[in-house]
Amino acid sequence: MNLLEYRLLGKTGLRVSRLCFGTLTLGPLQAHLPLEEGAALLAEAYRCGINFWDTAEHYQNYAYLRLALKKIQTLPVIATKTYAYDRAGAQASFEKARREMDIDTVPIFLLHEQESALTLKGHREALDFFLEAKAKGLIGAVGISTHTVAAVRAAAEAGHLDVLHALINYKGIGIKDGTVEDMLKALSGAYKKGLGIYGMKALGGGHLISTAEKALKFVKNLKELHSFAVGMASSEELLVNLHYCQGLKPPPEIEARLSLKKRRLEIEEWCIGCGSCVEKCPQGALSLEKEEPVRAVVDPERCILCGYCGAYCPEFCIKIF
Ligand code: SF4
Ligand code: SF4
Repeated sequence: MNLLEYRLLGKTGLRVSRLCFGTLTLGPLQAHLPLEEGAALLAEAYRCGINFWDTAEHYQNYAYLRLALKKIQTLPVIATKTYAYDRAGAQASFEKARREMDIDTVPIFLLHEQESALTLKGHREALDFFLEAKAKGLIGAVGISTHTVAAVRAAAEAGHLDVLHALINYKGIGIKDGTVEDMLKALSGAYKKGLGIYGMKALGGGHLISTAEKALKFVKNLKELHSFAVGMASSEELLVNLHYCQGLKPPPEIEARLSLKKRRLEIEEWCIGCGSCVEKCPQGALSLEKEEPVRAVVDPERCILCGYCGAYCPEFCIKIF
């Protein structure tokens, strides 16, 4: 029996499961599951009632979604994101998403990691491309993703955005410019403006795994969140999260095993100290050692284990376990 809740995602007309499958975990930046295994997990999640999948061009995982779509033979609500800021970049991202997922229309397209009204302004050309594609029926809804309170406020004021994907968890891990209370207040403002809102990093990128039940209850109880994305990389994680989100008790032995899981980022010893990962970390969690041999080091307190830095390492030495 499926006891998952479903909500209309703001004014988009899209009906989404409250539990959204965060697919970052599947691909090369995180678990790097074999293609068939990752696609089978996504298809399994769909059959269990999760009809909302979150991805991004940066995650390099469209192939998993493509194969999962072949398995389920229908189009769930898929949200993807791009760092494009101009028209040509937005068009290239849009075509890549359609080509690599083998879909004609994209349910939701977001500008990835917006920080403020200023960054939103700097991406105006890309946004205009997506709004025009929406008017032609090629995109269902347009919005932004963000780790900042300032961008949530900017989205609420923008007037032309449909969807907001914002970082929120009970400890505020990863919020770049404020507290949990600041973010909740900003989300409330966006909710009142009618935006469709889904949360990001409910488990703090893995830091809250030992208190997963509490962490998911927190986001589930926020009326402002029409849905919340949770990254999953195994059937056991899917099972436990589905239980929590349906108010059920998961099998104790699986729950205990998962709660002990410790996620971490490691930088291999062959790091050449180029610094490209340092510039790209959205949390400022990476730095270069001051003494020879110069290598990147991570501050585990600041790192939210998103794995984004891995895509920028020319030596492939950043791994998330
Ligand atoms: S160090 Fe890497 S994994 Fe950690 S927050 Fe920064 S980009 Fe994400
Ligand atoms: S990008 Fe890779 S090689 Fe360069 S500093 Fe970071 S971890 Fe080292």
